[in-house]
Order: sequence, then structure tokens, then C-alpha cells
Amino acid sequence: MRKALVAGNWKMNGRVARNDELVTDVLAGLVERGLMDRVDVMVFPPSVYIGQVKAVARGSALAVGAQNLCEFDDGAYTGELSAGMLIDSGCSAVLIGHSERRAMFGDSDQRVAAKVGAALAAGLTPVLCLGESLEQRDAGETLSVVSAQFDAAVAGLDVADISRLVLAYEPVWAIGTGRTASPEQAQEVHAHLRTLLAGFGRDVAERVRILYGGSVNADNAAALFEQQDIDGGLIGGASLKAKDFLVICQAADTGRDG
Ligand code: PEP
Repeated sequence: MRKALVAGNWKMNGRVARNDELVTDVLAGLVERGLMDRVDVMVFPPSVYIGQVKAVARGSALAVGAQNLCEFDDGAYTGELSAGMLIDSGCSAVLIGHSERRAMFGDSDQRVAAKVGAALAAGLTPVLCLGESLEQRDAGETLSVVSAQFDAAVAGLDVADISRLVLAYEPVWAIGTGRTASPEQAQEVHAHLRTLLAGFGRDVAERVRILYGGSVNADNAAALFEQQDIDGGLIGGASLKAKDFLVICQAADTGRDG
């Protein structure tokens, strides 16, 4: 059985005092609810706050990741952060291919593949985001779009590397819109992704966690996490509120048991 994973993508939000309070409250809530060992929890703060969050979370199982990385090693790339730097600052994971980066910052399928390779080479867990636009869904292209994104990202990886990925299915039309995929819509895509993983072996399909992301909140998380192939969530807006984030973590744990 795959362990549930809940990841909070803070996007470009946070300030020192607020981060402190948020992480402190999340840690206290995880302990109080007995979830610390039962659910893997990660937060992805803006990079300038990674050190701060690591310090607040010291001694706990809360993992910290980055929202992006540069595909190149250290060198003349002004404004970028290498995989080695992320490791140095205590990150264990990195988001790659988030739709906001694909749409606004030039993260093409090829670039995403290069970033996945750089993350794996450094020992980071890539959380690879995939998802279709509303036009693509309406045109019946959802499964072919996520297949193409997946194939491009894993081209050139070996089975051992693919088994180190976390996938996050995030329909673009559901991110930050308040519109969530129904549990059935999400499960259909997750099952498809599981089939793609199975192309690399049964073990890979059994092992890789597939998160759902897109307007997950305290009210809709439980129904999503009950689905067989949904192993947890990538949470944007609701990860900024400790109370809501904790309800989502609890739902991920219950979803595993159910
Ligand atoms: C995200 O940023 O990955 C996300 C899913 O955002 P939200 O939960 O706010 O839709």
C-alpha cells in the first residue's frame, strides 16, 4: 500500500512571521491528530524561505521542497537555482512542470524533461505536474495530453529513476479556480497514469504516488482521496491555512484506510 502524501504549494505567498505561524500550526496539528507517521507531508515555500521553514520544521518529518529548479548545473545563469543548491538548502523534493510555469515561464515538455533529469541526478524527488486545459478536456483530449506530457518527461529515464517520481495530475481548469475535477474524472486520469507507469513494470506502477491537484479544499478532499489511484494531493490555496491543510492531511490518511 502506498503511503498517502500531501504537498502544499505555497506559490508566491508568504512572509517570515506568517510562515512561522503556518508551519508551527501545521506541525502541532499533525502531532495532535497522530498523522506525523501516517501521512507524508511536504511544503513547497518560495525559495527564499526554504531555510526558514527547514529551521522551524527541524526534528520533524515535515519535508521541504522547492517550486522550481534550473535544468543546468551551477554557472552563469543569473536568477536561477541549481539542483545542488536546493539539496544544500535542505530540500528533498521539487515541483516540476506546474501549469503556471508551463504557461508563463517557458517550461516546455523538453525543459521539464531536463529539469526532471537534473533533479534525479542530484537526489531530489521530482513532483512532476501534468494536466490538460479546459479546451483539451472539452475536445476529448485529456488522456492523450497527459500521456504526451508523461512520455516527454520520462524519455531517457531508466526504470529505477521513474520509480523515484511523484506524479501530480492537475487539470489546468481546476487550479486556483474553485472548480475541482469530480472524483470520477480524477480517478479516470489517475488510472490512466497508473497504466502508463505499468509499462515500466508492475513494481513501478505499485510504487509511484499520483497526487491530485486543483482546488482541493477541506470539503472536497475526502471524496477525492477515497479513489483507488489517488494517493494524496498537491494543494495550493488551502495549504496556506493550517486548519484546512490539516483536514486535508486527515482526509488523505482516512482515504488510505477506506
Ligand atoms: C497548485 O498550485 O498546484 C494548486 C493545485 O492550486 P489550488 O489548490 O489553489 O487550485
